[in-house]
Amino acid sequence: MENKEDLAKISPVQLDAKSSLQFKCHEGLNCFTKCCRGINIILTPYDIIRLKNRLQLTSDQFLAIYTKPELLEKTDLPVVTLKLSDDKQKSCPFVRDTGCIIYEDRPTACRYYPVGVATLSNKEDYKDGFYFLINESHCEGFKEDKIQTITEWRKGQGVDIHDEINEGWTELLVKKRSFPKNIKLTDQSKKMFFMISYNIDKFKEFVFNSSFLERYAIDSAVIEDIKSDEKALLQFGIKWLVHILFNKDKKDDPEFKVASA
Ligand code: SF4
Ligand code: SF4
Repeated sequence: MENKEDLAKISPVQLDAKSSLQFKCHEGLNCFTKCCRGINIILTPYDIIRLKNRLQLTSDQFLAIYTKPELLEKTDLPVVTLKLSDDKQKSCPFVRDTGCIIYEDRPTACRYYPVGVATLSNKEDYKDGFYFLINESHCEGFKEDKIQTITEWRKGQGVDIHDEINEGWTELLVKKRSFPKNIKLTDQSKKMFFMISYNIDKFKEFVFNSSFLERYAIDSAVIEDIKSDEKALLQFGIKWLVHILFNKDKKDDPEFKVASA
């Protein structure tokens, strides 16, 4: 989550999981909810699952009402960002003067803010805990006296489950980003990427109402799991996406063995 008008405040200092963060955000600060306006939030697949369920919408409805399509820089992959309201401040649709009305299900970017993570630029660094601070001038949270480690901050914000479920997706973006520019994905592959990443309802229909389960010898426990759990279905979908995009010539992929006739 970043405020487009305040980009220059990214701290060049690299932090790791044990680094200290002096910060506290709470109602009562003059800046309260300022960071929820004029922002650019890329939504992750798990964000969409949580938000559409919270709002009791289908994936299609959520995408139509609350998102805007974009191409992710250096990957040529279609992603979605949160569509802002058309008020003067370009507010997030979920912000009120009293705070965020979907706080328990807020997107990953909102949870991390004001901590940035170098996930998309260098996976190895991320594994070693490469973080940085986004210190915007309006943000008064840095003047508060609460001190915690980045690990404690992550725990308090509930980002671990988001990162765990989105892990395969994030790795896929990193992998695609490292491709030479002249290697392009087909439109069909991009459509598949979009469906699995953002439209879990449609992907479920695809898996269970097409010849998909006849083509692959998928373990029956996995089938039960993905039938009842959208998180498991998403993670399964991303693995399959990696299989068809990067490993389809690998005949010994244990998870996606072609079913014998
Ligand atoms: S989702 Fe909530 S926390 Fe995130 S920008 Fe909107 S109001 Fe703020
Ligand atoms: S302290 Fe920072 S993160 Fe919290 S409301 Fe203010 S601007 Fe937003």
